Amino acid sequence: MHNHTKINLSTEALVRQLLINLGEDPDREGLIETPARVAKSYADLFSGYGENLESIITVFDNEGYDEMVIAKDIEFYSTCEHHLLSFFGKAHIGYIPQDKIIGLSKMPRLVEVFSRRLQNQERLTSQVAQGLMDILHPKGVGVVIEAQHLCMMSRGVEKQGASMTTSSVQGLFKKNLNTRSEFLRLIGKA
Ligand code: ZN
Repeated sequence: MHNHTKINLSTEALVRQLLINLGEDPDREGLIETPARVAKSYADLFSGYGENLESIITVFDNEGYDEMVIAKDIEFYSTCEHHLLSFFGKAHIGYIPQDKIIGLSKMPRLVEVFSRRLQNQERLTSQVAQGLMDILHPKGVGVVIEAQHLCMMSRGVEKQGASMTTSSVQGLFKKNLNTRSEFLRLIGKA
């Protein structure tokens, strides 16, 4: 990591300057509150930095369940690190528990910790899988993410490639073809 000096400019001041660079009048009525609004929405969009999985996700003892657990169609929004534009879609997560399980309602939070940062889709996918491995130490994990990228959709380049699917598998999902097939079937992808 480079040790970049953080200069003393607020996000609001930077957005105001960006508006000027775009050729806008930052003091016209429609834009006067924009720097403050952008700063606030950035705080939400990038709230994943500094978040720590262990403190967010409560894990429970597994009472002998050893079949696959599936969480499908988890909606997420992330920001592409190449263009600072949104990419968004659905994440599908499966795991086979060992000693610990997590509540299904925590799955969206798990995804958010990693999606609310500057990302690329491949890294987001493997971080979600690795995150689940780290907190649960399950027998295996599979993650499939389908997303649309505004950087491709809105700029008119590679329109066909605007939707992308990525996957990451660990443990049994990697070693065992049947496990992987069952996962894909359960999330409707096979
Ligand atoms: Zn992009």
